[in-house]
Order: sequence, then C-alpha cells, then structure tokens
Amino acid sequence: MLAGDLLAWGLPRLRDLPWRRTRDPWAVLVSEVMLQQTQVPRVIPKWQAFMAAYPATADCAAAPLGDVLRLWQGLGYPRRARNLHAAAAQVEALGGFPTTLDGLLALPGVGQYTARAVLAFAFEADAAVVDTNIARVHARVAGRRLTSGEVQRAADAALPRGQAWAWNQCLMDLGATVCRPQAPQCAECPLLARCAWHGQGEDPAPGSAGVSRPQARFDGSDRQARGRLLKALAAGPVPKAEIAAVMARPAANAAALADALMAEGLCVAEGDRVRLP
Ligand code: SF4
Repeated sequence: MLAGDLLAWGLPRLRDLPWRRTRDPWAVLVSEVMLQQTQVPRVIPKWQAFMAAYPATADCAAAPLGDVLRLWQGLGYPRRARNLHAAAAQVEALGGFPTTLDGLLALPGVGQYTARAVLAFAFEADAAVVDTNIARVHARVAGRRLTSGEVQRAADAALPRGQAWAWNQCLMDLGATVCRPQAPQCAECPLLARCAWHGQGEDPAPGSAGVSRPQARFDGSDRQARGRLLKALAAGPVPKAEIAAVMARPAANAAALADALMAEGLCVAEGDRVRLP
C-alpha cells in the first residue's frame, strides 16, 4: 500500500468521532474497549457519559465497580467494564499510563489490538493496529487469508513512519465505509490498483486472522439472560428466589449463570439477595 494514496483519500473524509479529538490515553482506552464489540453510534453517547463520570483513571479507580457496571448498561459484554475499572486502578498504582507495548499489554483486558491503538491514537507512536476493518482490508489487498502474524507484518510494513494516528484512522474508515464486509465499493477505493482481490471471486476476508465473524444470535442466548440480571441489579439488589424469573430461564440454568457472574466479580451474594459489587 502506498501511504500517500490512502491519506489523501482518507484525511478529508475522516469521520468526526469524539475520541478522535483527544490524545488522552484514558479516553482513548475507554473508546477502544467500548468499540471492541459495539457499533460506533451506540458507543458515542456511552463514551461521553463515561468520560463525564470518570474523566481520569483516578475517578474510575475510586468508584465502586457497581457504579461502573451501571454506567455500562446497554453496551453488553460487561467484563469489559470490570477490566477497565481494574486497568484504571493499575494505572493509578503505577503512577501513570504505560507508554510501551509491553506496559500496555500488562493492563487488565488490554490485548494486542487495544495496546497498539493506545500507542497510535494517544501517543501517536509508530504502531500499526489491526482491528476487524483493517484486517479485512489487508486480506483483500493480499488476495488471500492471512495468519495473525502475516496480517500484523503487513500492517507494520504498510505503516508510514510518523503518521500512525492518521494512517490507522484512515485505514479503519476505509474498512468501515468502502471495504465493507458485504458489497465493497471497489470503484471508489484508493487502493484499487494495488488490491489483489478487488471484489472478484471468493472473498479472502472471512476466516482471515483478525476479521471478526458475525456475532452469535442474541435472542435466547446466555448473554441475553446475563444482561437481564445485570440490568435488574443496576436498579437494586435482586432476591435469589427471583433470579430465574428475572433471567426468564429455568431455575438450575439461571443459578448457574448467576454463579458465573459472581465468579467473574460482576455481582455478589449478600444473604438471600444478589447485588452489584
Ligand atoms: S479494492 Fe475493494 S476489496 Fe480492495 S481494498 Fe479496496 S474496497 Fe477493499
């Protein structure tokens, strides 16, 4: 990929997202964690509310986890909130945000993608991020399924030094708006001339490393039942005897799901009731 082509295409079109106006590592981390499994339009108001409540790691670390989970309602995958809360405490204990890949990877819930995203989007360091949009673009440009090592190497090789913030954002937007999962708009793509696949034949993106699969059905899932209980808990403690009804599940199944939530630290038992931590 030639950097000039993508940057010239992408910079004037860059989506105006609130977390793109900051270089604060905490604000960037919160946005990246929220965006991992939630669409941008749902994340925007949640990110704004979260940053208003917890503008710094010290604010989040000082809050009870239950308050953070309450604020997380509607985003799903609440382990992310627990990990953010723990990461805030760890940053406070360290006396500041880690600025290296290894240091960021040591934070709870921070994996390769999130660590590189903080490096690139907060510190403007030369880090190539590979989210699902970027992984899809690289697989299609290469014209074949890539392993995780191959896609990271392709991303590293393409990265123009000193322009990591703009490059990664433009590549993400290209994947989100042009090189879409279905019906990519190849005729409008600045990478068309160097793209091996360019929409012809079997799409190499599904099954390529880093390209997410469609989410499992929500209706009837354990995720839905867990979400029902956490939503009820956000309003106040729930008697153990009512958990099955709240989850709309048979008693044994509901008890197992509630036990799992407790084991994950997302709720606690107190006498004959369950409450947020
Ligand atoms: S030419 Fe088509 S398939 Fe290739 S990167 Fe552009 S949009 Fe994606």
